Amino acid sequence: MTAIAPAIELDPAAVDELGRSFRGQVLRPVDPTYDEHRRIWNGSISRFPALIARCAGVGDVRAAIRFARQTGLAVAVRGGGHSFPGLSVCNDGIVIDLSSMKGIRVDPETRTARVQAGAQLADLDRETQEFGLAVPAGIVSHTGVAGLTLGGGIGWLMRKHGLTIDQLLAVDLVTADGQFVKASATENADLFWGLRGGGGNFGIVTEFEFRLNPVGPILLAGPIYWRMEDSPEVLRFYREWIADAPDELTTIVFHRTAPALPSVPRDIRGKRVVIVGCCYAGPLEDGEAAVQPLRRFGSPLLDLCGPMPFLSLQAMLDQSFLHGWQYYVRSCDVAELTDQVIDITADHALRMSSPQTTFPIFQQGGAVARVAEDETAFNGRRAGHSINVAAITETADGFDEEREWARTLWSALEPHQTSVYVNFLMDEGEDRIRKAYGAKKYDRLKTLKRRYDPDNFFHLNQNIPPG
Ligand SMILES: Cc1cc2nc3c(=O)[nH]c(=O)nc-3n(C[C@H](O)[C@H](O)[C@H](O)COP(=O)(O)OP(=O)(O)OC[C@H]3O[C@@H](n4cnc5c(N)ncnc54)[C@H](O)[C@@H]3O)c2cc1C
Repeated sequence: MTAIAPAIELDPAAVDELGRSFRGQVLRPVDPTYDEHRRIWNGSISRFPALIARCAGVGDVRAAIRFARQTGLAVAVRGGGHSFPGLSVCNDGIVIDLSSMKGIRVDPETRTARVQAGAQLADLDRETQEFGLAVPAGIVSHTGVAGLTLGGGIGWLMRKHGLTIDQLLAVDLVTADGQFVKASATENADLFWGLRGGGGNFGIVTEFEFRLNPVGPILLAGPIYWRMEDSPEVLRFYREWIADAPDELTTIVFHRTAPALPSVPRDIRGKRVVIVGCCYAGPLEDGEAAVQPLRRFGSPLLDLCGPMPFLSLQAMLDQSFLHGWQYYVRSCDVAELTDQVIDITADHALRMSSPQTTFPIFQQGGAVARVAEDETAFNGRRAGHSINVAAITETADGFDEEREWARTLWSALEPHQTSVYVNFLMDEGEDRIRKAYGAKKYDRLKTLKRRYDPDNFFHLNQNIPPG
């Protein structure tokens, strides 16, 4: 496809000079790979930056920031490119693209890992699992470590090992004025607080250091399917069953059309189903005992919950969220699965049209809820469930109708909503961002923003304006 020339005119000599200083690559709209690199995961978003600075290291990041300062270009920062609203690409500005910076160093003795900001979850899992270790992170392995961590990070291990940020020990960061800064519990502790949930508001993180925990490599995990029509009964049973679940067990409920995967028998593919996905981060026998009541409930259509490598669990949903499809999400947290929440969810699920649509309901609690609410900028640790209503179509056909469906379900849930996970927001405006953090934390984040980015240089994010 031919790239559309961005509206802004840059001095070619200045761009050449930036390119010469770069260890990575500086791409202009005329470059053959520009189109490939401006694309992000959400195919419903298409934007045309003036430049894409594909950084190879901290030196490149600093040079790109200086260039943006000098030229006044807006800055979009890209880790894994999985922002739902497409915050990692912009029109006419510069994309500071970290996706080539994938270095990871695991130290099995100290059980820590240093991870560059372009790594995806698959990269992190690959390196850490080699030593039987892991960082709790998300459920789709092509998601970026950077954006996920900076928003909090929820996933299969969270009830045992907490959010991704609960295992974060330190970061390296380049600020809006190009300073290289470290942040940890003992160094720039205020900044470290804000980075654990405050997203990309304070600078560009170039490297993360995580604490690692023993995980797997084989876990009891996988999905159990029932007919979608049975969802009200399944969810009522599920609610009682998880009430005394051990921390080792994390579950996620999905309503969707059964996928055409090799693991799904042909006669089940294409049927509308409700699924409880399980992950037991502990001994297999204990996992088996914990999951047994669920297996026995009603008449499951399919039970794929069994011993599996943690790496397989992490990649299990990759095919359900492919690059380039059209995505629109509306999300919220709820305190609990009340009868009303269950009935609204089950009823609307039956009205989804697209075979790609699938919306996870994450079970929180456990280790997530045991960290004090004010310890990190992430908000909503006491929520029972985080619901990510995702309208998905393969092409633009039917996308508008599916998006409307997501809005309708979200609106029906509105009276029951407690908060929202910032990484599940679309472009929803300042009030929603304030809601994501709560008024007190939002004000604290604003104070931090005034200190680290008073000009709001980094504003293409879930923005916390300094003023
Ligand atoms: C398929 C899919 C599955 C998901 N599953 C989960 C899940 O299980 N759990 C969960 O918690 N979340 C999940 N998410 C949400 C995810 O956490 C966010 O979309 C997150 O922002 C993605 O990070 P990224 O680096 O891939 O995205 P990007 O689009 O590259 O970045 C997202 C935001 O972070 C900023 N940013 C990125 N890198 C840096 C950096 N190094 N320094 C400063 N700012 C930076 C960007 O500017 C942008 O504002 C999922 C998203 C998708 C698309």
